Amino acid sequence: MTQASSLDPARALLRRVFGHDDFRGLQSQVIAEALAGRNALAVLPTGGGKSVCYQIPSLLRPGLGIVVSPLIALMTDQVAGLRQAGVSAARLDSNISLDERSDTWRRIGEGTLDLLYISPEGLMQGPMLERLAAHDIALIAIDEAHCVSQWGHDFRPEYRMLGRLAEVFPGAPRMAVTATADARTRADIRAELRLADAAEFVASFARPELQLSAERKQGKGRDRVVELVLQRPNRSGVVYTGSRAGADEIAEALRARGVAADAYHAGLDRTLRETRLTRFLEDDDRVMVATIAFGMGVDKPDVRYVIHADSPASIDAYWQEVGRAGRDGLPAEGIALYSASDMAFAARRIAERDLAPEVSQVQMRRLRQLYAMLEGATCRAAAVRRYFGETEVEACGQCDVCLDPPQLDDVTEAAQKALSAIHRLGGRFGRGRIVDHLTGKTRDVSEHERGLSTFGIGAGWSATSWRDLIDVLVFDGLAAEDPNDGKPLVGLGDGEGVRAVYRGERRVLMRARTAVAAARERTRSPRGNAVEAPAEAYPLFDALRVWRKARAAEQAVPPYVIFHDRTLLEIAMARPVTVEALGQCGGVGQGKLARYGQDVLRIVREA
Ligand code: ADP
Ligand code: ZN
Repeated sequence: MTQASSLDPARALLRRVFGHDDFRGLQSQVIAEALAGRNALAVLPTGGGKSVCYQIPSLLRPGLGIVVSPLIALMTDQVAGLRQAGVSAARLDSNISLDERSDTWRRIGEGTLDLLYISPEGLMQGPMLERLAAHDIALIAIDEAHCVSQWGHDFRPEYRMLGRLAEVFPGAPRMAVTATADARTRADIRAELRLADAAEFVASFARPELQLSAERKQGKGRDRVVELVLQRPNRSGVVYTGSRAGADEIAEALRARGVAADAYHAGLDRTLRETRLTRFLEDDDRVMVATIAFGMGVDKPDVRYVIHADSPASIDAYWQEVGRAGRDGLPAEGIALYSASDMAFAARRIAERDLAPEVSQVQMRRLRQLYAMLEGATCRAAAVRRYFGETEVEACGQCDVCLDPPQLDDVTEAAQKALSAIHRLGGRFGRGRIVDHLTGKTRDVSEHERGLSTFGIGAGWSATSWRDLIDVLVFDGLAAEDPNDGKPLVGLGDGEGVRAVYRGERRVLMRARTAVAAARERTRSPRGNAVEAPAEAYPLFDALRVWRKARAAEQAVPPYVIFHDRTLLEIAMARPVTVEALGQCGGVGQGKLARYGQDVLRIVREA
């Protein structure tokens, strides 16, 4: 059989159940692999349609499809979405009532359950494995598979147990899927999950719907975050902060300005977190201010922007977090604020973690790569994609760097002065004191310090410029910050690099101050009202959203599990009058057509 014909049933299912015309990107290849009963490792970007890759083979192959997923929120959403589409799906986790549990087991026994979602620790319990092993298993999918790797940022020790699945279910094809895995992480996934023979599918990391930008923070940057959010009214957004206190603080500041904002972090009790999560998912204009405790598996498709109030932890983390915006494929923004002290803080966190030396070196290198991207003068999207190993990447044409290439000044000479000042001061002082030293403004200066050749050597530059330069030196690894309990001391960094700068062999470049200031002042025109469509479509789109919200509330599910914005927009533009025409709209499968078709057609008629 040719691949085209062997995929026909899969394509028919994609249309009938999920309402999509055809496979996208690597989906068809991944699905073909699983249908042939072979293992696979698939790295598809967020929003790339990973779930279909394991859902369709699970439905087509005889037996139960098992999906291992790290987060209950993700499972809840997927199961709700599948049920809406008429698929027999269930999850087993600690929140499930006894009744529901026994019903699920009954369906497994009868062979009428198609998909079972379960956490790694839930699955690997002895009795659970034994019970499942007695049934036919169509496929085992391991979602967020990068969690198995300690090189990554989401390492979860319980993922390591999943290697055993190879022995327990020798006949079932296994599929590892993730949105983030560089070559090293992929190697780890293969080794840990015993997928040595798995074919590898790595999609492009391009996310053309994301408009990226980054700016250096002024101070703590809180006011700037509030300003950015206020510039984007009535839209759903996520603000990531580096600390719980930061999340509380910013949420409070936003509420004070009338924004519907909630904080979300691990310090809040679980019911409060759940209420806030539900509220965020159900509304289309809420802002969640959160630590990284929020997000993995939060699949809200209409998040229009992600703001990093503090720098992310690595490019991997950045891409995953930013990737939560624009999952419906409509334009969205990723705005990162960063600073040298964020970098120092992250470095300290790495140092404090109990990691093997080589792991901690890898983490440090990743941290530096992140700041090279944030502070750099090359297209941000291209920088990220190269980091993930893509070649022949073109500039995106829409990030801040592409739109307004920063002017870079050669500040090598000033860097030499600053580095020798840091050297002479022996790493005993913080930024402020070093700048005072350079500008000759140190209060109550000692005879010794006044006598140093670097004292007052930089009087020609403003204190702000010196501060900026010291930040650049830190980003470049030429200077290093010792956290010193929150009062960071600046010392020399990489010796080889510093010597090269002294010799003039390595140039130090810094964004022209004017460009930094201009970038801050430039008020980016907020993107169209979440969706781009002819104005005539909006009244109907809004009417459909009101209807969707009511139906969602009745069933206690988030609105987008009924229909995505994208689907509603397509309906609003197409104005179908027959069931057949409605079925042609992307995202309207048979199940939803039967359930909601008449309602939708009535609204179209009446609008
Ligand atoms: P992720 O890879 O992030 O898990 P999902 O599986 O949630 O992505 O899919 C992201 C979005 O893309 C969903 O709205 C889904 O309905 C849609 N989608 C998936 N496959 C297709 C397809 N072949 N054609 C059109 N839309 C698709
Ligand atoms: Zn670009």
